[in-house]
Amino acid sequence: MPRPIEALIHVDALAHNIGRAREAAPDARVWAVVKANAYGHGIERAFDGLRGADGFALLDFDEARRVRDLGWRGPILMLEGCFEQRDLELCSRLDLWHAVHCEQQIDWLAEHKTHTPHRVFLKLNSGMNRLGFTPTAFRGARARLELLPQVDEISLMTHFSDADGDRGIAHQLAVFEATTADMAGERTLSNSAATLRHGADPLATTPRVGGDWVRAGIMSYGSAPDYPARTIADWKLRPAMTLRSKLIGVQQLQPGDTVGYGSAFTAEAPMRIGVVACGYADGYPRHAPTGTPVLVDGVRTRIVGRVSMDMITVDLGPLPKAGIGSEVTLWGHGPADSLLPIDEVARPAGTIGYELMCALALRVPVSVT
Ligand code: PLP
Repeated sequence: MPRPIEALIHVDALAHNIGRAREAAPDARVWAVVKANAYGHGIERAFDGLRGADGFALLDFDEARRVRDLGWRGPILMLEGCFEQRDLELCSRLDLWHAVHCEQQIDWLAEHKTHTPHRVFLKLNSGMNRLGFTPTAFRGARARLELLPQVDEISLMTHFSDADGDRGIAHQLAVFEATTADMAGERTLSNSAATLRHGADPLATTPRVGGDWVRAGIMSYGSAPDYPARTIADWKLRPAMTLRSKLIGVQQLQPGDTVGYGSAFTAEAPMRIGVVACGYADGYPRHAPTGTPVLVDGVRTRIVGRVSMDMITVDLGPLPKAGIGSEVTLWGHGPADSLLPIDEVARPAGTIGYELMCALALRVPVSVT
């Protein structure tokens, strides 16, 4: 018997979540952001669920090739543009739209020999201070691009640093609008958080972010970008990944007994604990503390003690009938419509849903449902 652990990718949930991006941004087209192997879901596995989007946005050229190999003929946007000059060859060959965020990338374009002019997304650094031209340099960069025969369309982009938090987007939005006010070209500003929180959803608030394209990353996979302020139930998103396993052992503890490495948990009363075939070598977060939620046979309980490489231990108090073979949902969809959002596991572990999805380990078999 193989070790009882597996991940499931839910195609219908991906399609539903793309539909939610459309509802939140009814006047825009939707990029499904599939960088990092579709946030750990697997580009090939997620493709059928995401193909209802208008385009795919990513940053790895190898992943762009994989999207083309799947038969996608529509737009693909390289979010960080070219990493070296020869990447432009791939942009030409695979018909990739690409961000331009620095003078070096314009130099490469100027030297690039191509018969098919490129569509570029000129990136403004409106305050994130990672990639992009400053507001003062932006106009000059655009003027340079306009002179290049290698470029036939210039679109405008920026990226928000705090769309998911209290600091918000107002300042960056104002910088973007002031810098680009008199410029032609399509615009893309919003990630998932801005799409949901500053779009057309009933829960959204001002300022409203316009734009011709939204870049839906984490929301496509069924995690709330602004958890815990809002949950996937609030945003009507569905988990696209389930990680599930089984109980492979049961222990009866007496008061004073401890569990696992470092004896990090001590029983205060007689209790039964279950041992789950899932550990940090599967991608479960090692820093998930006692109390992190988990479902056993669809019933919510908690992990106790330290997460080890191949096992975690769970409190079977609410589950007197559970035993070896009982189904354990680490996150995602459980039996009988039970649900454990990945955000509820990430938060106590001091991380975010993004990281858990991306960290799903290679040794976990994955199937598509
Ligand atoms: N746009 C850019 C430029 C990004 O780097 C990312 C991801 O970090 C996204 C969009 C998608 O963000 P999210 O997953 O928060 O929707």
